[in-house]
Amino acid sequence: MSKLNPRQQEALAHVSGPLLVLAGAGSGKTSVITQKIAHLIENCNVPAERITAMTFTNKAAREMKARVQKLLPPERTRGLTVSTFHQFGLQFLRYELVNTPLKGNFSIMDSDDSKRLLLELMQRDNLSGAESRELVGKAIKMISDWKNDLIPPEDALQTLNDPEDAMFAHLYGLYERNLRAYNAVDFDDLIVLPAKILKENTTVRDKWQNRIRYLLVDEYQDTNTAQYELIKLLVGVQARFTVVGDDDQSIYAWRGAKPENMALLKQDFPKLHVVKLEQNYRSTNRILHAANSVITNNEHIFEKSLWSDKGEGEQIRVITCPNDLDEAERVAKEIVAHRLRNGNQWEQYAVLYRSNFQARVLETELRQLDVPYKLSGGTSFFARTEIKDVMSYLRIILNPDDDAAFLRIINTPKRGMGSATLEKLGLLAQEYSISLLSACSHAGLKAAVGNKASHTLQDFAEFIERYTRDLYDNPDPMPLVRQMIMETGYIDFIKEDSKTPQQEKNRLDNIEMLYTSIQNLINRAEDDDEKSIEAVIRKLVLLDMLEQQQEEENTNKVNLMTLHAAKGLEFDYVYIIGVEEEILPHRNSMMADTIEEERRLMYVGITRARLELTLLLAQKRRAGKDYKMTTPSRFLDELPLEHVNYPGKRGAAQKDPKQVAQDYLANIQAMLAAKRRG
Ligand code: ATP
Ligand code: MG
Repeated sequence: MSKLNPRQQEALAHVSGPLLVLAGAGSGKTSVITQKIAHLIENCNVPAERITAMTFTNKAAREMKARVQKLLPPERTRGLTVSTFHQFGLQFLRYELVNTPLKGNFSIMDSDDSKRLLLELMQRDNLSGAESRELVGKAIKMISDWKNDLIPPEDALQTLNDPEDAMFAHLYGLYERNLRAYNAVDFDDLIVLPAKILKENTTVRDKWQNRIRYLLVDEYQDTNTAQYELIKLLVGVQARFTVVGDDDQSIYAWRGAKPENMALLKQDFPKLHVVKLEQNYRSTNRILHAANSVITNNEHIFEKSLWSDKGEGEQIRVITCPNDLDEAERVAKEIVAHRLRNGNQWEQYAVLYRSNFQARVLETELRQLDVPYKLSGGTSFFARTEIKDVMSYLRIILNPDDDAAFLRIINTPKRGMGSATLEKLGLLAQEYSISLLSACSHAGLKAAVGNKASHTLQDFAEFIERYTRDLYDNPDPMPLVRQMIMETGYIDFIKEDSKTPQQEKNRLDNIEMLYTSIQNLINRAEDDDEKSIEAVIRKLVLLDMLEQQQEEENTNKVNLMTLHAAKGLEFDYVYIIGVEEEILPHRNSMMADTIEEERRLMYVGITRARLELTLLLAQKRRAGKDYKMTTPSRFLDELPLEHVNYPGKRGAAQKDPKQVAQDYLANIQAMLAAKRRG
């Protein structure tokens, strides 16, 4: 256990009432949470099962749990809940099923499913037309905002400024009705429904407030209205909770996060005790000067200034490259050389960027130099077509009423079902208020769709039913899952459908990878309930939506991720690429005037570094076939000149030419050595 400083101790000891720990990056907020959990169990006699800790990503939740498990013997942490808000919401809905509008085995729609459903509703309502895809994007965003603000469809109309938006409010109502008809929830519902139930049902509320003796929340600045409401309802008047956060790291306003929730706490809980931490235990002082200096350009709710006892450290480097390819090559070579020179591990390095597209060139360069890397938060593993297809087969096993999954797989592989047939099937389902899959076994099927199609659909339904029967309660479901997918003809379909052998291999590899993660989840499950295929699929569906990334074991690899995904993490050597106007700050933010959120993102990026920070930019960047000249990011001008090495920038400290020559030589030698090894 690292020794906590007096202020952290104060946060630990305050257990009777509400507590807010407000502090900058790397000051030990997450450490306070994990150590406080241990303290509650060890010294305050709070049983582990009465403690709940929440955060935002699966990765953070896993890490938090691991840190607590290091502090206590296993028998003392049994029953402890450390989860994401959404995992918690899902558990809640399952416990409280009778109090929800849902039936058992409800399905969770991901954003793709939601989009498809909305598009269908718009078409049904004749709101289609050329622009409908664009409208769907807008509709999704508005509906999600309403839900996160806890505004039901009937009130949505009243919040509108623009009469044109009335259509979206109308769609919102339709969308909610359809979700319930499909026995499905979307991502937002995992928070909104529990909050609603807790608010309306006093028995349930008393039960949960009793059950949770202590609540802890990390990254509190990113909570939205629904999440804050959930917290309030869970803690009740006893208000035994600790939330920790940093308003300067609030980077999810676009998803409804309200940093004002920090100020609201004081209003809602007048007894709130606030602890501020200022010592940073992560970074050298030059890195902190840079962070402080950038973030002072924002309006502040709470002033704070970070310092550490880790010495001044190296200068921050800013490297200008001729174009985006050079930028990627430079980062890759730097890492190779730096690692060799210092005898480091790959995992000590991270390359961070604003948008996922920036990873593509980088990946190519890293591969060329045989640098092992892992990509988090990139094009989701689960967003890949073949994974979605296989997952849809599994989803319909989990929930036969999952119409979205049905529509995805009924013609994948091809079964010759035209849209006219499917529409007739849909009408039949509607008429009898049954799901599409149930309609396939309905007595009226033949009359509705004709002889030939009815056979195909019946066969399909029987096939699904057979595997549903066999898979449930099967102690070793994996071989059966494989057999099922094989029997659908999907594997053959991929072989025919792929355009190159490489594509075929990638797609089959992805499916193998999915099988492996299913098996891993089964192996890792703590009890029999969690081992069931049902629980495993549910978990996968949730992982898919929450993290949008493959669960990868922690191995020795360079970390590639977006600035958003890097929050809460730390690395010895950090490279941020694309520090240019229109990338960081993002183009959309420049137009929407949300530069402050981009600056916080820059602050998050800078403060991930322990030892060295390097910022890169390209003078021109490929845009389609052409190159486009770029402008250095305004955030570069906000760095403290005396701590920055920025060649080419007027007034900046220049590097000693001798040093430059030495670095160059070292780089070449390192490259050669790497080539020889490879
Ligand atoms: P962020 O805002 O980025 O989430 P944080 O405030 O949650 O950061 P932590 O991740 O808890 O900060 O801590 C940063 C680093 O400092 C970790 O490596 C942690 O182990 C270390 N640390 C925290 N408190 C102390 C302490 N009192 N003494 C020594 N090291 C500490
Ligand atoms: Mg943290």
